[in-house]
Amino acid sequence: MNAVDKNMIDTMTNEKHYDDYEDNIDQEVKEANKKLVERFPFLIPRNAWSGKKITEGAGFWPGSPDEIPEYDYEYTALDDMPKGWRKAFGEQMCEELKDALERSGDGMDDDVEDWYPIQIKEKFGSLRFYPIWSTEEIDKVIVKYEKLSLETCIKCGAPATKYTIGWISPYCDECAKKIKYDKVVPKETFFGKEKE
Ligand SMILES: [Zn+2]
Repeated sequence: MNAVDKNMIDTMTNEKHYDDYEDNIDQEVKEANKKLVERFPFLIPRNAWSGKKITEGAGFWPGSPDEIPEYDYEYTALDDMPKGWRKAFGEQMCEELKDALERSGDGMDDDVEDWYPIQIKEKFGSLRFYPIWSTEEIDKVIVKYEKLSLETCIKCGAPATKYTIGWISPYCDECAKKIKYDKVVPKETFFGKEKE
């Protein structure tokens, strides 16, 4: 075998290993997601227009076929939450939302089935969680975690000590060192300025 052939085989073998590795990661993510949506069915992805669960054969956009590949747990609605916040309190927040939901209204199963987050995102450095409908108790949980998010590193979930200005984001000391952005202020300055 000449060197060129040998190289080619090595490259193909490495790629194969890499693919296997990726497949394993995918599989782990899917298994974790499956467990997650079993605990919190409101995290099953929905069609943004119809509100139908992806598991109910809802197409992704108006006019798209109803038949879509079976949901394989590749992602959940919680994936929209920045990583650090998800790590720090993502599941805890879901747990409290679930409790609040179960105590909501007349306790009809239908109501609970119909509840889900329309959007989860970051805005002005804190979490925004928009539910399809709410109760006072659900709102309380959301407000609690929206406040907590502003004090939690968006990258790793540690308590925030630094803030970027302009594009506001909370960071811990370690993560703040790694970002390529020079408008970073300490927590005291950030909250001091906010009060003005
Ligand atoms: Zn951090």
